[in-house]
Amino acid sequence: MAKAAILEQVGGLTIGEVELADPAPHEVLIDTKACGLCHSDLHFIDGAYPHPLPAIPGHEAAGVVRAVGSEVKTVKPGDHVVSCLSAFCGHCEFCVTGRMALCLGGDTRRAQTAAPRITRNGGEPVAQMLNLSAFAEQMLIHEHACVAIDKDMPLDRAAIIGCAVTTGAGAIFNACSVVPGETVAASTRYVDDIDNAMEEAGEFLLAASEGLIPAGADGFTGDLQGLVLGNVPARTYEDEITLFKTVGTALSDIAGLAAAAAAAEVEDLGIVLG
Ligand SMILES: [Zn+2]
Ligand SMILES: [Zn+2]
Repeated sequence: MAKAAILEQVGGLTIGEVELADPAPHEVLIDTKACGLCHSDLHFIDGAYPHPLPAIPGHEAAGVVRAVGSEVKTVKPGDHVVSCLSAFCGHCEFCVTGRMALCLGGDTRRAQTAAPRITRNGGEPVAQMLNLSAFAEQMLIHEHACVAIDKDMPLDRAAIIGCAVTTGAGAIFNACSVVPGETVAASTRYVDDIDNAMEEAGEFLLAASEGLIPAGADGFTGDLQGLVLGNVPARTYEDEITLFKTVGTALSDIAGLAAAAAAAEVEDLGIVLG
């Protein structure tokens, strides 16, 4: 038995008990030690992303391997691991062309005719969200949905590699095309009120461009209170601004930055995540 935060119906989570099956040949049973709360989890919880219920959210986790299936070669009991929400089969057209994140192979999940990975009350299925369901004391996942990490790394930091870090880093390296030394702005807070955030962001960026707010200042009082500016250039923000996240900030909050760019009528690229 394992405790889990279960989405019984849209609107909130309930703590309950579930049972995890024994690992199949390519599965890994993990004692969950840390899990982030991603904005996508909130979308599932508030119903924006429909999902069969009951289900257990949570998809950026770290833990310690408790047991492995008979064919698992990649990790072993005692390994510290980070979860991955894009498990790959290794032999579909996407996997064999180096695009494992797009894998459509069904064998990272259990067949519909097989016993479910997660049940409760003596057999009632509980849906596994994003092939992980990390809001639980244990996870039973495919071996290609986790990777071993250095045991020196704190598991609460390692957990967010599973989604936030890779999503943000992918946006920076693959979509924003920023290079070292370029001008950036970074926000560290989730934006609740996008209209208010846009207004504040616009005012802040315009003030910054006029030299009224020093680089690195925390100038916001509302939704974008955590916005910081870095590496302010000689040119003004009306000319150009490149928006991306700086290392050490929450990497799931770039929507506020895109809004800031729009509000300030600056010309450049906004990358929106989460
Ligand atoms: Zn996520
Ligand atoms: Zn595949």
